[in-house]
Amino acid sequence: MTDTTASGAGRVRTRFAPSPTGFIHLGNIRSALYPWAFARATGGDFILRIEDTDLERSSQAAVDVIIEGMAWLGLDHDEGPFYQMQRMDRYKTVLAELQAAGHVYPCYMSVAELDALREKQMAAKEKPRYDGTWRPEAGKTLPPVPEGVLPVLRFKNPQGGVVAWDDKVKGRIEISNDELDDLVIARPDGTPTYNFCVVVDDIDMAITHVIRGDDHVNNTPRQINIFRALGKEPPVYAHLPTVLNEQGEKMSKRNGAKPVTQYRDEGYLPDAMVNYLARLGWSHGDDEIFSREQFLQWFNLDHLGRSAAQFDEAKLRWVNAQH
Ligand code: GLU
Repeated sequence: MTDTTASGAGRVRTRFAPSPTGFIHLGNIRSALYPWAFARATGGDFILRIEDTDLERSSQAAVDVIIEGMAWLGLDHDEGPFYQMQRMDRYKTVLAELQAAGHVYPCYMSVAELDALREKQMAAKEKPRYDGTWRPEAGKTLPPVPEGVLPVLRFKNPQGGVVAWDDKVKGRIEISNDELDDLVIARPDGTPTYNFCVVVDDIDMAITHVIRGDDHVNNTPRQINIFRALGKEPPVYAHLPTVLNEQGEKMSKRNGAKPVTQYRDEGYLPDAMVNYLARLGWSHGDDEIFSREQFLQWFNLDHLGRSAAQFDEAKLRWVNAQH
């Protein structure tokens, strides 16, 4: 293996962190296959974390499909499943530490004020962003605190400079800090928001490699800044391109992608499915058909595809017939 951790040493630890907001499909489970394979290929650990903070959209039935789908495909985890809803106290503790260190501030801007600001910025053809009204700075007088309003907490994003990382799929990415406004990291009721929870989890679970869908690329610079504010170095990132359906649209729960367990019920072989999914975004020369053992022997992060992969049920049937 050419790559181990950010520092180039130590045991690899990867994770799959699905949100149980619908039944996971083949595009989602591929985001479990690669971190699992990387952990297995390097003798590392693979952690399962269920990101169930969206209470309205999360369901036990969706969790069941994740667990059963992974079990069917043999994507075994070494730790977990951890549930974010059960870790709220931990997030609140870390949030308090971050606030005590001066990286967090209360913001009393109301939704109506934020909307008005956004409209003004859009009319001026500017990118809508929070303008830092409540950000404390030396010598700055903050507006009077309105009565009876509970504030959100915002992360004091560093000003100036860039956030950069060497993405294992996309190459070097650099984002100017001036592009990033101060992220809301706790709601008025005190509950921490998604990007904050992910960073606390990735730190606590000692994740060395985050391998996930590239719909999270925009979150990464924000997450890296939170890592650093907490005095930690971020993991290595690999952002996987989207899986498209046969119509060339992003495969999604909404446009009818089948739950992964449906393929089990239709009689597909787990090794064939692993083979098919492995090739949907990763290559090993021209090899189309390989065993699970060969896959784990060959797998590395260097041959992850850079462009979107397209699902093709006929091809899946063909791969299945070869196993
Ligand atoms: N829960 C996120 C999702 O299902 C994944 C977050 C992550 O991997 O960091 O899209």
